[in-house]
Amino acid sequence: MTSISMGTGRSTADRLAAIRGGVQPKRHNARTIAALTRNPGCARRAVLDTAGVDKQRLAAYIDFPARFGQSGFAIARGNAFEAQVKASGAAELVRLLRERLGLPIPEVAYDDLETVTGREKESPEVRYARSRALLLRAAAGEEDAGTLFDHPLLALEVAGQRVYLEPDLIAFQHEGRFHVVEIKSFAVVDGQADPAKVSAAAIQAAVYVLAMRQMLAEAGHDPEIVAHDVILVCPRDFSNSPTAVLVDVRRQLAVLRRQLGRMTRVDTMLAALPPNLSFDLAPDADGVPTRAPEALVEALRTVEARYAPDCLSVCELAYFCRAEARGCTAALGTSAREELGGIERVETALGLAKGELSPAEEQEEAAALLRNAARLRAEVLGTAG
Ligand code: SF4
Repeated sequence: MTSISMGTGRSTADRLAAIRGGVQPKRHNARTIAALTRNPGCARRAVLDTAGVDKQRLAAYIDFPARFGQSGFAIARGNAFEAQVKASGAAELVRLLRERLGLPIPEVAYDDLETVTGREKESPEVRYARSRALLLRAAAGEEDAGTLFDHPLLALEVAGQRVYLEPDLIAFQHEGRFHVVEIKSFAVVDGQADPAKVSAAAIQAAVYVLAMRQMLAEAGHDPEIVAHDVILVCPRDFSNSPTAVLVDVRRQLAVLRRQLGRMTRVDTMLAALPPNLSFDLAPDADGVPTRAPEALVEALRTVEARYAPDCLSVCELAYFCRAEARGCTAALGTSAREELGGIERVETALGLAKGELSPAEEQEEAAALLRNAARLRAEVLGTAG
C-alpha cells in the first residue's frame, strides 16, 4: 500500500480542509499523481485531490459512479503477495536481487519504516524525517546505514503542495546505488506481463525515483545514485513464487518532470474559486451525506474541468465530466482540441465544415482544415457509393 497526505501553509490548508468538509482526507498513492500529470490542465481534479476529497464516493453520490478500481479481492491478494515477498526480512526478495539481477547486496540490514510506532500514530512529517535521515546516511556511505528500507516515506512537490509518498521498498546496493522496488500481484507468464499494467507500474515507480532524487539533491548528494532501472516484482506463471525484472523508467521520468512543471499552483487555483466551496460528504445518523447531490453538482461546476477521453481510465469523475462535456470539441480528445483551437462546440465545427457558418478570424485556419476534411470524406463516400 502507498499513501500520501498534504503538508501545507496555514491558509491553504484551512481552505482545503473546508473544501473536504468534516470527513477524513482520502489517502492517495503514486497512481493519483501519475493520473494528475496525465491531465495537468484540469483544475477540478487538482483541487479535489489536493483537498483529499473521496472522488469515488462523490461520483457515486451524484449518480455517476466510477467503473474502475481494484476489487477488495485484488487488494487482499496484492497485500498477501507483498507480505510473502517481504517475509523473514525480505529473504526471497534479496535472493531475487542477487541471483536474477546480480545486484550486490552482501549483508542485509532490513529497516521497516512503517511500524516503528505504528503507521496511524505518527504524523507523515515524523515518518518522513526518520526515512530521510536513514536514506541520507546510506547515501553518505555510513557504516551500518542499512540496505533494505521497507515503506519509507518520501515527499514530492505537486502543484505547490508537499505530498508524501510511500514506495513498497527501496533497496541500497553495496556500490552506492538505490533501487526503487515495486511489488505487484499481476502475473508474469512466460516472461510476459500485461503491457498496460507494466506501464502503470513504471509510472508509479518513476514518481518514487523522482522524489528520491529530489531529496538527495536537496541534501547535496548526486541524484543519479538512484537508478533509473526500477525493480518490478510479480508472481511468476500464476504461482505464488515471485520473479523480478528491471524496468527502465527514463521516459516516464521525463514526462513526469515536464507535466509537474506545467501544473498550476493549488493556491492560485483556490484564489479563483468561491470562498465557501465545499464537497462535504459528512453523513447523517443513517450514513447518508447531509448535502443534496444537486448542491455537490453545483459545486463541481464552479471548478473548471478539462475532460478528455483518457479520463475514463484514470479519474473517478470521468462519467460526470463526460456528460458535462457532451457536444464540446474538447471531449473528442487532446489532438482534436488542439486542431480545433477556438472552436468550442461540435455543432460549430460541423457548420464550418459544411460551409453553413462563416468562420471568425481566429477560426479561419481550423475552418479550412474542416472543409478540406469534409470534402475528402464526401469524395471517399462518393467513391464507396
Ligand atoms: S474526469 Fe473530470 S475531474 Fe477527472 S481529470 Fe477528467 S476532467 Fe478532470
